[in-house]
Amino acid sequence: MRLDRFLAETTDLTRSLAKKALHRGEVSINGIVVKQPATQVSDEDRIEWAGQTLELIGLRYVMLNKPSDVECSARRGLYPRAVDLIDLPKTERLQTVGRLDVDTTGLVLLTDDGQWSHRVTSPRRRCAKVYRAVLAEPLVGAALDEAARRFEEGILLEGEEKPTLPAQLAMLGPCEAELTLYEGRYHQVKRMFAALGNRVTALERISIGPLTLGSLRPGEWRELSEAEVAAFV
Ligand code: URA
Repeated sequence: MRLDRFLAETTDLTRSLAKKALHRGEVSINGIVVKQPATQVSDEDRIEWAGQTLELIGLRYVMLNKPSDVECSARRGLYPRAVDLIDLPKTERLQTVGRLDVDTTGLVLLTDDGQWSHRVTSPRRRCAKVYRAVLAEPLVGAALDEAARRFEEGILLEGEEKPTLPAQLAMLGPCEAELTLYEGRYHQVKRMFAALGNRVTALERISIGPLTLGSLRPGEWRELSEAEVAAFV
């Protein structure tokens, strides 16, 4: 890899600022100042700038307990973005794995590994995502049996051509539902309950595959362990 690219990958410098830092003699390779941006560097080289030894950033895998009023979007908008809560270098490279609505709370994964992200979200992989929903109307008795049956069979949501994949419904209280989905369509949980004539007033995602929030409080994040990453391979 070229030295100027290496600097841009490992620091906050842009490629052109990296060239200027090189020109000023601020960068050394194995203790020797190097000024040529096109110099090739390898894994064995020790590259230093501004008193630090620079390391290439590998792929990152993060879980976040998303609070309300935070957006799972790459673009800056009305609300802070999920990536803005992650205190790691080069967070602009991280993307959320699927999306939660701005008012939905709970487990969000972020990564710069597009293939891994696809494995988690692809409906073909049937990775379970569990949501807790507070409902405006109680769901009990025959209406509950009917709802569970319809969710298991799949519901044709308005404007869609294919019914939803089989989903499991369990009630934690008359107005508190736990719904397990294996796909992630736009506003899916809210639209599924709307199809029953009900309304979701609060929504939290509590797990994705084997991953749960554990002791992470709203706004907190942590990197996944190797075993957690490997669980989706
Ligand atoms: N379903 C929804 O309706 N909203 C979410 O944020 C996630 C799933």
